[in-house]
Amino acid sequence: MHIEVASSAGFCFGVNRAVNTVYDLLSKGKNVCTLGFIIHNPQIIDDMLKKGVKIVESPENASKDSILVIRAHGVTRNVEENIKSLGLKCIDATCPFVKKIHNIVANTSLNEDIIFIAGDKNHPEVKGIIGHCNTKFFAFNDYNELLDIIKKNKKLSQFNILFVAQTTFSLRQWKSCLNLLKSNYKNISVYNTICNATLKRQCEAEVLSKKADLMVVIGGKKSSNTAKLFDICKKNCSSIFIEKIEDLQFDEIKNSKFIGITAGASTPADIIEEVKQKMEDILKNNEAEQGEDLNFEQMLEESLKNLNTDDEVKGVVVGIAPNEVYVDIGRKHAGFIPVAELSNEPNVRPEDVVKIGDELDLLIMRTNDQDGTVMLSKKRVDAAKGFKEIIDAKNNNTILTGKVIEVMKAGVVVLTNGIKVFIPASLTTDFKNKDLEELKNNEVKFRIIEVNERRRRAIGSIRSVLLDEKSTAINEFFDSLYTGKLLKGRVKSFKNYGTFIDLGPVDGLLHISELSWERIKDPSEILKIGDEVEVSVKSFDKESRKISLIYKKDEDNPWEKLKNDYPIGSTVEAKIVGLTDYGAFANILPGVDGLIHVSQISKKRINKPQDALSIGDKVNVMIKDIDFEKHRVSLSIKALLEGNQGEDFSKSIESNGNKENSENNGE
Ligand code: SF4
Repeated sequence: MHIEVASSAGFCFGVNRAVNTVYDLLSKGKNVCTLGFIIHNPQIIDDMLKKGVKIVESPENASKDSILVIRAHGVTRNVEENIKSLGLKCIDATCPFVKKIHNIVANTSLNEDIIFIAGDKNHPEVKGIIGHCNTKFFAFNDYNELLDIIKKNKKLSQFNILFVAQTTFSLRQWKSCLNLLKSNYKNISVYNTICNATLKRQCEAEVLSKKADLMVVIGGKKSSNTAKLFDICKKNCSSIFIEKIEDLQFDEIKNSKFIGITAGASTPADIIEEVKQKMEDILKNNEAEQGEDLNFEQMLEESLKNLNTDDEVKGVVVGIAPNEVYVDIGRKHAGFIPVAELSNEPNVRPEDVVKIGDELDLLIMRTNDQDGTVMLSKKRVDAAKGFKEIIDAKNNNTILTGKVIEVMKAGVVVLTNGIKVFIPASLTTDFKNKDLEELKNNEVKFRIIEVNERRRRAIGSIRSVLLDEKSTAINEFFDSLYTGKLLKGRVKSFKNYGTFIDLGPVDGLLHISELSWERIKDPSEILKIGDEVEVSVKSFDKESRKISLIYKKDEDNPWEKLKNDYPIGSTVEAKIVGLTDYGAFANILPGVDGLIHVSQISKKRINKPQDALSIGDKVNVMIKDIDFEKHRVSLSIKALLEGNQGEDFSKSIESNGNKENSENNGE
């Protein structure tokens, strides 16, 4: 599938200038009137009406507080004078090429000259030209009408004949009319005033429609120059005429392999781009359904073929239009760069690439002596220079930056220095299953990993740069670590032995024993996935890139509380939490259990702790000894009973249940 947009499609210089004049005034908050439709494009007209523009048929209808804009077609001298006499503020956006015709026909003498105007006398531009004629004139549409005029007006040969044309007149008709005039008159001054923009658009439509199997012609249904383009195209291939994107039908384009797009002088660039984008989407989806993946190599070859640096010239930017850039190349020919030859970046706007006065290295693509134009390419010169930089970058392992301009199933295409570099999907990221669409239009850093100079093919890796950056970040992170350092992180996952904390460059392990001073069975008792936590470094090893972390806080350390508030000999209420043959474990503070040896449970002799105690019982105990280093506490119930000979042992125990009560009572 291939879609090609004619470089001349869309706004010409004159229309662009007139439309911009209106939008500039609107942006400055001015009230604007236009004399007739400024452009034959319903979407633009709608937009202007919504923004408050008034369209008036004559100057008398324009309000005094507004600025009247004359459109690119121009107006008669009478209308110009009327505007002045009414005292209206006015901006004349008549195209300079049309103004030139006004000057030619005005600079004539009533008794000496006769003007022949090739064009449609009902068209506003021709009406304007006629309105500037200073002498007798004839307007005609074609050869036959001219022949008729010559036959009916026998005495014209005594006058000087001036021959001009409507700017959009057919070149073929112009030539045959010129031959007819020359064969009838001697004193003839010829002014070929056919506009290059129109000529170029028609020639390109002719060439493109001969290559394409479908032509899409975009423009207003009332636009005569768009209708002419449609006529040209449909002679050569199947063609459709649309005004807006909604007119595009899937069935009309789905089977086309080569689609050409052209557009009339009143068609804005964004509508052309929108249509192109929609067709690309339709065709890509269609291809995907048929299992035809885009072959990157073919695409790359296509973009670089015909590269020829033999005809390089320097050019200075003298004008910028939506579809092309005008350059002075120091020759009599006018130079222009179609937007498609400006940059490899799709959807680029000329004003984002160049500015007036820039000196550019350019490649001559085509010279047209008849039109006096030279078509130039900037992107091909950039590509030649850029490819050398690609080779150097590969040899020096340099990191390059570029913009992701295309996303495919197999990878992405990055544009750097005018060169497209393919990055396979597996080398776009440092983790699997990344959505490549997220990279679209982003600047990325990458290395060149493969270059094929003969085929001008380059393959890069973003992953290589990401891994290096990650490794540097990890090294810097470990270099900054010390035991006890406080770090912020996010709870990433749970294991039965603890939880992993995402610290940024690496994950650290928070063992279950470091979560809380109290005994817990599962990390989820304290934390949940995604929690932001502050942890301290317990230990780390740079080589193995492992870090152990602590979450529990020193100030909550129950052994400190024990040291301060519970001296040896003090009494505390405890809860039986474990029973063994040699004693019972009792919890005296959250996180601190002590041992009541079997000999310290009762004044009476008992064989095992279970004879007197049950799990859950609450007992008063005396703290007999504390080993702070080994975290051991010795407790005694018996010590509290020693002064109370004969007192019932069961009074020191708050029983945990009926079974224990009955057992105790039975003793
Ligand atoms: S077609 Fe040519 S003459 Fe007409 S407005 Fe455009 S640039 Fe001017």
